[in-house]
Amino acid sequence: MLSVVWLLASLILSSSLVVAQDGAISGAQTSPEAAGYNCDASNCKLPTCNCASPNPPGGLKPSEVPQFIVFTADDAVQSYTLDVVNQLLAHRKNPNGCPPKMTYYTSLSYTNYTLVTDWYVAGNEIADHTMTHVGDPPEEEINGNLVTLNALAGIPFSSIKGFRAPFLNYTAGMLERLYKAGFEYDSSASASIPVTDPNTDAYWPYTLDYGMANDCLAVTGTCKGQLKLPGFWEIPMYAFFDKRGNAGSHLMDPWLDTANGNSQVNDAETLEYMKDTFTAHYSGNRQPIGLYTHPIHLALNYPGVSVSNQTGLMINTFLDWAQQQQNVWIVSSAQLLAWTKNPVPVSQLDSFEPLKCSTPAIDSNTKICNGMPKNEEGLLSHCAFPDFPFYTCYGCPVTQPTVQNPNPPQQVPKGRQARFRLPANCSTPFWDPIKGQCLCSSNQCMFSDESRPIGPNGANLTGGGTSGGFNGAPKDPTKYIPFNAAQAHEAALWLALVLCAGALVVVL
Ligand SMILES: [Zn+2]
Repeated sequence: MLSVVWLLASLILSSSLVVAQDGAISGAQTSPEAAGYNCDASNCKLPTCNCASPNPPGGLKPSEVPQFIVFTADDAVQSYTLDVVNQLLAHRKNPNGCPPKMTYYTSLSYTNYTLVTDWYVAGNEIADHTMTHVGDPPEEEINGNLVTLNALAGIPFSSIKGFRAPFLNYTAGMLERLYKAGFEYDSSASASIPVTDPNTDAYWPYTLDYGMANDCLAVTGTCKGQLKLPGFWEIPMYAFFDKRGNAGSHLMDPWLDTANGNSQVNDAETLEYMKDTFTAHYSGNRQPIGLYTHPIHLALNYPGVSVSNQTGLMINTFLDWAQQQQNVWIVSSAQLLAWTKNPVPVSQLDSFEPLKCSTPAIDSNTKICNGMPKNEEGLLSHCAFPDFPFYTCYGCPVTQPTVQNPNPPQQVPKGRQARFRLPANCSTPFWDPIKGQCLCSSNQCMFSDESRPIGPNGANLTGGGTSGGFNGAPKDPTKYIPFNAAQAHEAALWLALVLCAGALVVVL
């Protein structure tokens, strides 16, 4: 019955939303022969290089290693999806007393930009999942997402370091495109063999200095050292396994799958194998466990859809149970990666900076559109596009962002001033997009964003300014450099030539 409800929900949702059922795998996706993996551990050293290995990084003993639960969500960011994540995480604390953080692999179709800002300012990781949710994405889909998230959600370029391919459909070419655009990691590969198997592919995050070691039976041109991307990380997605072992793998939204070859979804059986897989990791080399969610499938209050809350309760039961054990931490992909690069033993984790609480000090009475709900109340712009209206602090664009133009000019209401986009020298919670001022005046909140080589021909883009300026050069050339500026310039030149030719024809 539950699966029927989900099917119905999926059908209703898919007519108006991008709800990808990505991520199904069956059986082993790699083998030692197919991987042909050979990493020189004497040359490959942390923090910039790490060999693919089921053993903990830094030579730590498993007893010194935290058991990480990586929590991720994919696709559009909406109030319904954040509600789901909050129902699973908001009441929890990690062993250091801080609320757990997670990673949102964001695609832009149907995303409400202001919620992305809020989610980021609350300390979560915003990562890239393409603009319109396409597999094996071209550069424009990958890089346009950064341009739009920076312009309309105020996310610094330096903080969008991770990527997950829609449908987990990745290629060697896609990984090369990520590398070129300055990404730090991809998390699209699957770990598809149980940790108890001597040939397990449940590797800790590793760099591609010696190529990939996951998915070697499924993705061509990445293994046997064919794809070398020094310093670029792969964070494998760790599958759960039911009683069938290798043949019973469950990767994304395992609660939507039937367990043990049954014909119907059964939450009790799902819970049982999730616990069993956790225990195998926890009592072994403590490779991370992953909860990879599409939250819309668990949304209780999406209009016109009634989904049972039993499954959400089951996931909470699993997390309650896992957190009762020692040294269990719920983390984002970026936090897992930070620890892998600098693997301190559990005894030092309480003072490990990337796992600390992050609460920017802004007086809640200050009226500033900064991604903190109380501060920004009444200051948001409503962008009433018919497909999916959204809110933003940074001024509505004249048209919805597209792959061709991820940063359209700003639409400035009569009698109002344009909003100022996040500049490179201020962090999101301290930036006032209305006054164009940075509230930060101490060393603690100083911030410096980086530019990214995501423009035409690899040109570096930097945040700031008031508008995309896509159809012409920006007024202040030190501010925002438009995406596709070269093409826009060429088009303008071409138009000028046509006009000149027209003028000539008239004259002649
Ligand atoms: Zn997706």
